[in-house]
Amino acid sequence: MSTASPVVVHGIAVSPGRTVGPCVLLPEPVGEPPSGRRLAPGEDPAAAAARISVAARQVQAALEAAADRAQGESQEVLRATATIAADPTLVADAEHRVLSDHLVPERAVWEAAGAVSAQFEELGGYFAERTRDIADVRDRLVAELTGRPAPGVPEHDAPFVLVASDLAPALTATLDPTRVVGIVTGAGGPTSHTAILARALGIPAVVAARGITDHVADGDLVLVDGGHGTATVHPDEAQVAAALAAAAQTRAFDGEGRTADGRRVELLANVGDPRDAAAAAEAGAEGVGLLRTEFGFLDRAEAPSVAEQVAAYRQVLAAFPGRKVVIRTLDAGADKPMPFLTSDAEANPALGVRGLRTAQEHPEVLEDQLTAIAEAAAAESARVWVMAPMVATVDEAESFVARCQRHGLDVAGVMVEVPSAALLSGPILASAKFASIGTNDLTQYTMAADRLLGAVAELSDPWQPAVLQLVASTCAGGAQQDRPVGVCGEAAASPALAVVLVGLGVSSLSMTPRAIADVAAVLATVTHDECRRLAQLALSAPTAAAARERVRAELPVLEELAL
Ligand code: PEP
Ligand code: MG
Repeated sequence: MSTASPVVVHGIAVSPGRTVGPCVLLPEPVGEPPSGRRLAPGEDPAAAAARISVAARQVQAALEAAADRAQGESQEVLRATATIAADPTLVADAEHRVLSDHLVPERAVWEAAGAVSAQFEELGGYFAERTRDIADVRDRLVAELTGRPAPGVPEHDAPFVLVASDLAPALTATLDPTRVVGIVTGAGGPTSHTAILARALGIPAVVAARGITDHVADGDLVLVDGGHGTATVHPDEAQVAAALAAAAQTRAFDGEGRTADGRRVELLANVGDPRDAAAAAEAGAEGVGLLRTEFGFLDRAEAPSVAEQVAAYRQVLAAFPGRKVVIRTLDAGADKPMPFLTSDAEANPALGVRGLRTAQEHPEVLEDQLTAIAEAAAAESARVWVMAPMVATVDEAESFVARCQRHGLDVAGVMVEVPSAALLSGPILASAKFASIGTNDLTQYTMAADRLLGAVAELSDPWQPAVLQLVASTCAGGAQQDRPVGVCGEAAASPALAVVLVGLGVSSLSMTPRAIADVAAVLATVTHDECRRLAQLALSAPTAAAARERVRAELPVLEELAL
């Protein structure tokens, strides 16, 4: 163990659990080489051009070797990328630019990749989807030609803590939880894709740990506390022993969420890909609280057919016979663009035509979706609830409920993601049968802070007292109309915040299946009155950090369970 003293870097807790491992630093992304940079006078263009094919062979070999070691989807991705690195078109074009324009090889590669991408975009379909792989090969070539480490997570035999300035969503998606035991990033927000994926993979993570990359070097021991939001570089022996003991604990869930005094709190799963539904049921989820139906629509030139949708929805319903499954209609737009529904010309897509609003111009997409949901519901025994994303007005709620009723879908509700819906939840819930609070967007719109932008991470925190007030307001509307209010945003997966949400009046929590056992374990230790008291404590705090700390201080069980 190192003799250096522990250095604690504070960030935002996004995925609970404590873990320890050697640091692996993610190389900084390669930037665009300066435009017009040419060879030095006297430099031989032929020799410079020849370096490109050498680099391409090296990149191809490295990708193939990585593919041999990988499995499943990552293996396929790596093999496809290796094929592009081996394709002579890109290399020939880049060499030509060195020979004729005397560009430095890395700039020539950058420009040639741009030209190949443009051709692929024009061809559309399968080819258009390959442009991301071309950018990956381009970056690897530029790194090789400029003597920098290859982009992406470096190969490492033993499990490690990944430390990065920021993580691209695509990269986070390929992380292997058996190798990456913890994540610390300098940027990123609590509802960023990194946070969502880290929680889904069960990897303890801290984001917005400003300056973390200045405090660590490759190989330094790092202790990640994903409950408190700290990264300790050079932890002492006692800290390491406690973290390892905590990581070894396992928790089971008996299938029914409740507080210590027996008040039921439904613990449901968020499902994004129908293939994950069976695993959610195995994790003990009582049902599905949010089926994100975007999975079938993203990266498509047009909406999937009704038959295709029926098959996908049935797969989820079949995993939960007799149980509740809440299907959210399509949430296109902003961070989920879909060319057949949303425009890329909007200056502020998060404030534009997204979610239910797309049904104004394209009612047929929503109609088809409701047809498919009704057909799937008729064929399976699950209890199907339907809800619309991004509802802002009473009118929108009423017309959505009426539309669902025309399809025989009687339990139609709304997501509360916009402050106006939280404030108007009483009149909205006069027609809507339930509300499900999407704390990710509700936080974004309450705090006017982009959920994906690290620079505003402190604002984009569901512990913000203003967000908690809007949760309380939604619950008051629910109580007025005697309608259930749940939470399906990431806040539900935080055991400490879950206690507060229940105290504010929420009766169901929907989250990544991995979080269910932890949330259940903590809820089972507090009475409903205690939940209410802690909710008041959080509501009256001056800041998000104070709310979190005050509540955590009253929940010693979090310490015992290392959450
Ligand atoms: C939310 O906004 O909290 C939510 C659950 O929806 P999504 O994350 O899919 O936007
Ligand atoms: Mg949302």
